[in-house]
Amino acid sequence: MTTQLGTESRPLRVAIVGAGPSGFYAADALFRSPLIIHVDAFDKLATPYGLLRGGVAPDHQKMKSVSSYYDRVATKFPDRFRFIGNVEIGKDITVDELRNYYDAVVFSYGSSSDQKTGLKGEELPGVYSAREFVGWYNGHPDYQHFEFELNQEVVAIIGQGNVAIDVARILAKTPHELSTSDITQKALDALSKSKVKEIHIIGRRGPVQSAFTELEAKELGELEDANIVVYENDLVLDGANRREMEEVESNKARKNYAVLQELAKMPKEGKSKKVFIQYFKYPKEITGTTHAESLKMDVVRLEGEAFKQKAIPTGEELTIPSGLIFRSIGYKGISSPGVPFDTKRGVIPNQKGRVTDENGHVVSGFYTAGWIKRGPSGVLGSNKPCSTETIDCLFEDLPSLQACPTPSSDAVYDLLKSRGVRTVSFQDWKQIDSRETEIGKAKGKPREKFTTSEEIFQTLDSVVEKGK
Ligand code: NAP
Repeated sequence: MTTQLGTESRPLRVAIVGAGPSGFYAADALFRSPLIIHVDAFDKLATPYGLLRGGVAPDHQKMKSVSSYYDRVATKFPDRFRFIGNVEIGKDITVDELRNYYDAVVFSYGSSSDQKTGLKGEELPGVYSAREFVGWYNGHPDYQHFEFELNQEVVAIIGQGNVAIDVARILAKTPHELSTSDITQKALDALSKSKVKEIHIIGRRGPVQSAFTELEAKELGELEDANIVVYENDLVLDGANRREMEEVESNKARKNYAVLQELAKMPKEGKSKKVFIQYFKYPKEITGTTHAESLKMDVVRLEGEAFKQKAIPTGEELTIPSGLIFRSIGYKGISSPGVPFDTKRGVIPNQKGRVTDENGHVVSGFYTAGWIKRGPSGVLGSNKPCSTETIDCLFEDLPSLQACPTPSSDAVYDLLKSRGVRTVSFQDWKQIDSRETEIGKAKGKPREKFTTSEEIFQTLDSVVEKGK
């Protein structure tokens, strides 16, 4: 007889691996059910919210306010949700071990690597992924050791997605503009001494194919001490590009184009810094012997029918002399031991969120959501329908789901404790949250983040000490 999961006597037990936005949306979808469900959301970091904390730009505080939604999910059924931070699945506990304690596991650990350009010179010092810079200024513990060459006057950013725009904006903002964000003090101090004067955002295609979105582009025209440079010549559209702009279902290209037209009319001089949106520049080499010295590009034109256009070199070249080059051409997921993985796409293979093996067969009890399910695309809110689709599959599968052998809430903690792993609970996080907010408030910032797990544990210990 199969055990009936989701009842008072035998709650459905679900582990979520990765407590970022898609993990919280998965918990949200689970808690919308009338079933009795216990959710443990694990994260490698000691803090929750994933990319919301470590990826969303520090000057986009409005977007960060979605954390209050996630808090409501975490506290909806306080005895049924646990955040278990500072636990690395595959290292502190294996996926097979998780199966002992949970009836279903949802992998929602995002994309923690990035695409490579394959350009000659990409491995030279002075060339970084945008992810590293973003992690650094956002206080992500894995990126605090980076020291970027902010003594350079010219910076090149390869790619024109919203991450590239974030990087350019943070480099272009004044200390005054950044002072009300939750950028780390260390990053603010380093950026305050920055010598950067020119920031080039490099697109290998044209304005219609820009990957960024309207609001993010608009913000570049509102910078206190940086001019934005968009060349009107780049905005002249031929038939194929006009068709691409008009035939795309979303209005993204049309909206972007309208913003670019406004930006092109803005004064190109008068402020200390300049942000160039460069189109039709195909990167071909990063030069340098012991350090990056320049980015070489072919100037290209697009040829062919709409949506099938190819970049053809015009014979002209452009070289941007720069010792600080970021590639910002998309993130990439990495595999987790014991979980099927599609190395080429950088995702966990799945059918609507049901994990599949190398033969395309569904792996019972394994689910996936967010960027590691569908690849690194979309805004934060895109994760909600993505996670809901996954949890709908889990509910459909419920009658055939194999009940785990050890449905104990304490057993997993005991195991982690026996391995010397110090975990962080949601209540612990709330203590950290209020301490970070308190320190930030004294500086006029929304928060000052702790950037290491040591700082977090010391803070938690001092709270316990004070309470004695
Ligand atoms: P993205 O939007 O996929 O943009 C990647 C960019 O890299 C594109 O311009 C692409 O150009 C270019 N590219 C790719 N391969 C290249 C190569 N080999 N050489 C030169 N250029 C290359 O990626 P992203 O910026 O990392 O953003 C990821 C997701 O997060 C997106 O959905 C984004 O909207 C989202 N995000 C949102 C926000 C926000 O809402 N404010 C902030 C940050 C990120 P082609 O089109 O020519 O391939």
